Parts: sequence; C-alpha cells; structure tokens
Amino acid sequence: MGSAKIIDGKAFASQVRADVGRKVSILKESQGITPGLAVVLVGNDPASEVYVRNKGKSTLEAGMESYEYKMDSTTTQEDVLARVDILNEDKRVNGILVQLPLPKQVDADAVISRINPEKDVDGFHISNVGLLNTGQECLTPCTPLGCLLMLKDYFGDLSGKHAVVLGRSNIVGKPMGSLLLRENCTVTTVHSRTIDLAIQCQQADILIAAVGKPEMVKGDWIKPGAAVIDVGINRVEKEGKTRLVGDVEFDSVSEVAGAITPVPGGVGPMTIACLLKNTLTAACRQLRIPEPE
Ligand code: NDP
Repeated sequence: MGSAKIIDGKAFASQVRADVGRKVSILKESQGITPGLAVVLVGNDPASEVYVRNKGKSTLEAGMESYEYKMDSTTTQEDVLARVDILNEDKRVNGILVQLPLPKQVDADAVISRINPEKDVDGFHISNVGLLNTGQECLTPCTPLGCLLMLKDYFGDLSGKHAVVLGRSNIVGKPMGSLLLRENCTVTTVHSRTIDLAIQCQQADILIAAVGKPEMVKGDWIKPGAAVIDVGINRVEKEGKTRLVGDVEFDSVSEVAGAITPVPGGVGPMTIACLLKNTLTAACRQLRIPEPE
C-alpha cells in the first residue's frame, strides 16, 4: 500500500445521497412534489439486473419514487420506443434511464434520441451532449459528473491543471473531457491509437482512466503527486476467485500518486449518487422551480 490519499467514493456518495434526500424532503413539504425516476431494463443481463436493482433501492432511499419496467430480451425497438413515449408523457416521471447495453435488435441511439432531453438523467441525448460541449446548462452524464465532484472536493480549484483522460467513449471519456475543460483544465484525451501512452499520462496532474482494461495503468505512468481517478470495472480471476479491479494497477500507482480512487468503492458509488442528483435537478427544472438550498 502506497502513500497516496485514498479518495473514498463510497463515503462521498453517501453524503451526496443524503443531501439529495434532504432536498427531496424540502420539496415534498414545501411543494407536495415527489420526484420520480423510471428505469427501463430490456433483457436479463445479470450485471444490468444488479445495477437496476441498486438504482431502484437508492432512489427509494432518497425519498423519490422508483418505477421499473422490465422488458423481455426479444422486445422490438418499436416496443421500447413506445415505452419511452409513455414515460415522456407521464407527469410522475422526472427522469428516464434506459439501461445499456440493449439487445442487438434495439438501436440504442434511436432510443436515447426518443427520451425527452429534460428527463434524460443519463445526459446521453444529443441535445444534452451539445449543451455540455457549448458550456450551457444541461443534464450531465453521471459517471464523469461523479469523477468531477471528487476532484473538486480534493483540489478545490481545478483551473490550470493538466488533465489526461484515458478513453474517448461517449459515456465517460468525451463528457469527462468537456467537464474538465469547463473547469479550465488543460485537457488531453488519449485512446487506443495514441502513440506513447505512458509518456502522455506522465504529464497529468489529473489522470482519469476509463479504458476497460484490467490494471493497464502502471506506477511508472504517473507523475508524482497526481490525482488518479479509476473508472474501470473489470472482473478478473485471481487465485481461483473472481475479483473486481480497475483500469489502474492500484499497488504500484498508489506508491507515486497523491490521491487515488479504489475499485470497488470509488467512482461506482458516485455514479448512482449523481443519477439521484440529476433526477432532483430534472424535476426542479421541469417544474420551473429553484432547487432547494
Ligand atoms: P468503452 O469500451 O466504450 O471505451 C474504452 C475507451 O478506451 C475507448 O476510447 C478506447 O479507445 C480506449 N482504449 C481501449 N483499449 C485501449 C488501450 N489499450 N490503450 C488506450 N486506449 C484504449 O468503455 P467505457 O468508456 O464505457 O468504460 C470504460 C471502463 O469504465 C469500463 O471498465 C467500464 O466498465 C467502466 N465504467 C464504469 C462506470 C462506473 O460507474 N464506475 C460507468 C461506466 C463505465 P478507442 O476509442 O480508440 O477504441
């Protein structure tokens, strides 16, 4: 175990969730409003079932309504779109999340485009993507938002820091880069075609690893004192047991970094907390009322 500060995502997430819960109670008491989150699960992918169950439980714990729609793995795209149409119209529902991945007969882009952008609590709709990239008010993807909250809590001001984002997916890497740019970081995005990946990462004051490759980032890729946020969730077999590891080799990196998020217990819990935060924000914006202090 190295000298890096461990950023406790689990503890931070419970603070965020408690804050959402407190604001939900204020909304209920002052306006008689209970925000609602609808989650649509198509098929029976075991990991997705666990995520959906956890999201439902956390939503109820925050005092919000949770609506779950399970659809068969053979459901057609038209049926998924019809469900989204109903949820778009449903006044009780302030946030809609369609759990990804979807079965191959359902086009995820078409489904995401159908969600009312004001209810798009995943922040994946093209209007929210455009608003984020032009620095306007929007619903922001939950995982990068969680990473940003942890970084702001650790550093305070992020202005002028060199952030290297490892991975350029639409759900993590790209929105993470946009959020860090908005905080006045100098952002470098690196990916599978980047030459000299390790040298790029060594320049980072902040390194976000979101590649989906177990323990790819090694200690000698890290600038001494850097903050390392490990988004990866990888299941690996070790000594006959299945273990969860990140995209960062924790032991070697924590020898060099100034701060690091563990896996599990880092980014994962913050993602769900930010989903609840986004649902509250979405409800207040739809009702054109300020978010409680
Ligand atoms: P994607 O597979 O969509 O994207 C992976 C990115 O990593 C791509 O941009 C790819 O580059 C890049 N990449 C892959 N291999 C390499 C390599 N050898 N060298 C450099 N870059 C590489 O993954 P996601 O962004 O969806 O997820 C990333 C990880 O984060 C996964 O482990 C996932 O499970 C986890 N995750 C965790 C969440 C949480 O709540 N904690 C939420 C979402 C994801 P290219 O574009 O060139 O192919």
